[in-house]
Amino acid sequence: MSSVVYQPDYVPTNLNFGVLRASVVLRGDVPLEDLPATAAELRAYLSDRVAKWQVPERWAFIAEVPKTSVGKFSKVRMREAYQRGEGGLYMYSRDENPTVRAAEEAVARLAGAESAVLFASGMGAMTTALLGLVSAGDEVVAASALYGGTYKLLRDVLSRFSVRLRPVAPEDLAKEIVERPAKLCVFESPTNPTLRIVDVARVAEACRKARAVSVIDATFGPPGLQRPLALGVDLVMHSATKYLNGHSDHLLGVLLGSRERIEPLRLLSHKLGSTVDPQAAYDLLRSLKTLPVRMERHCSNALRIATWLESQPAVRRVYYPGLESHPDHALARKQMSGFGGMVTFSLGEKERAFRFWDRQKLIARAASLGGTESISSLPILFSHTGYSREELARAGVDEGMVRLSVGLEDPEDLIADLSQALG
Ligand code: PLP
Repeated sequence: MSSVVYQPDYVPTNLNFGVLRASVVLRGDVPLEDLPATAAELRAYLSDRVAKWQVPERWAFIAEVPKTSVGKFSKVRMREAYQRGEGGLYMYSRDENPTVRAAEEAVARLAGAESAVLFASGMGAMTTALLGLVSAGDEVVAASALYGGTYKLLRDVLSRFSVRLRPVAPEDLAKEIVERPAKLCVFESPTNPTLRIVDVARVAEACRKARAVSVIDATFGPPGLQRPLALGVDLVMHSATKYLNGHSDHLLGVLLGSRERIEPLRLLSHKLGSTVDPQAAYDLLRSLKTLPVRMERHCSNALRIATWLESQPAVRRVYYPGLESHPDHALARKQMSGFGGMVTFSLGEKERAFRFWDRQKLIARAASLGGTESISSLPILFSHTGYSREELARAGVDEGMVRLSVGLEDPEDLIADLSQALG
């Protein structure tokens, strides 16, 4: 068993109660009826027990990662209590798990959400959201600059179930959804890879008027940088594989929103099996403690690199919302408290981008983003592979583009690598 020390700031009291209660129940040695009934009594009870285990009392905020997918019931009464939905009881990890619950509560608090549900990947989260919200015959308005996986899920999979896709330029989303309502509006901000910023409050308001559900993929702007729920969006999704977990060692996804929106999607995830592994949830909990510090460094490194790239004659164009030259700079200043760690630039032609890419030494040539190490990818070979010329144009992707996920290294080392690779 591994254990985690919860910070009271990150985990609400009622959750501590649930998790602590679960950790006692999961040990299997205390009948449910003997458990203290209130959080205060339970803490006192546990403090007493942990003192016996020679763990300092202040470590009473301890939960365990059960290395089992099965919770044990000591009596019929306990199984019945579980059935009634009593907190702190767990039967099977596809349905719920105390460590996963703890991580969900922590992400919800960071994002200012009432509720959160974790998934085995970002695509697991998006698939569950879409399957939970649309039915045959519905139409989905999707921003044309969208993560390739989401776009292909709509274009190639949901289309087989008679769900229609209507791609719309990010800047036209609000107008379009009011003029021609749809069931759902899916968009990202910042977008991939051109880092356009969508006016989230405006789109959310338009969706409300049109009775469409608004769903934002906020992967590029994690909690701390923006607050889409406070701006009125119905559902927020993150590939937590990226900044939230931040160490390129797990696949994870999350949906955030009101309890009313999230609970049906949680139940659907149990049916779909898109549930997260508890070990990944445990590591996510630990990663969340450094999220604000990591984001600060991602953002300052990215701004330094974007500014440097803009001064390079070999670079045709730099896309970074923190630059004054970016078309959405003013909106980004208004809507975000940091511009993020992603920087995209174009070298004009495919051959020049390929040559640059092969010459990098420090920066890793890889997919994904949001980890501690800097990564560069070529959109036409990674996120946007398999797109037709028209689809690439609609997404604003050109063949000479390079997308950087700026890591936590010394920015001068990164600039030295970029410089030699451009040279
Ligand atoms: N959304 C965005 C913006 C992404 O970049 C990704 C992955 O790269 C995803 C969703 C999918 O997330 P995952 O890879 O965790 O399934």
